[in-house]
Amino acid sequence: MPNATLPAAEKQQRRVETAIERLRVVVVKSRGSADVADEAAKAISHLNTLYAESKGAFSAEDVRYANVLRGYLGERLAAHKPKTAHTKKAKRKGDKLDHCWRCKTAVDERFSDECPTCSEKAYKWRVCPICNACGCQRAGKVLI
Ligand SMILES: [Zn+2]
Ligand SMILES: [Zn+2]
Repeated sequence: MPNATLPAAEKQQRRVETAIERLRVVVVKSRGSADVADEAAKAISHLNTLYAESKGAFSAEDVRYANVLRGYLGERLAAHKPKTAHTKKAKRKGDKLDHCWRCKTAVDERFSDECPTCSEKAYKWRVCPICNACGCQRAGKVLI
């Protein structure tokens, strides 16, 4: 790699670190209040934009940690909502898990949306209503 490209790459990595830290702060705050939902959406969108621009600026650990944070965020925001009973959905053909791969929420009637981007005729990915996970992030096409 020519040296001239290094500072730009480093700059991008620093932007990634800052963006992950921003999400981490929101996730900490989300424990106390659901009012951070908008702030969280902005932090997520910023990270996804950076990821779309340059995946290379994200280490495997960055990707893993951002996904962990996104899972926690969903769970914590959901915990502020009134508790209701849910009906578990049976596994479909091709389902490897009976829960969300990211936030571990059991698949129930709230898992009603299918992602048009990563679903194929043979297998439809359900979107997790808690953390918004689907096959797009699982496959690394979208960060979180
Ligand atoms: Zn989830
Ligand atoms: Zn998807």
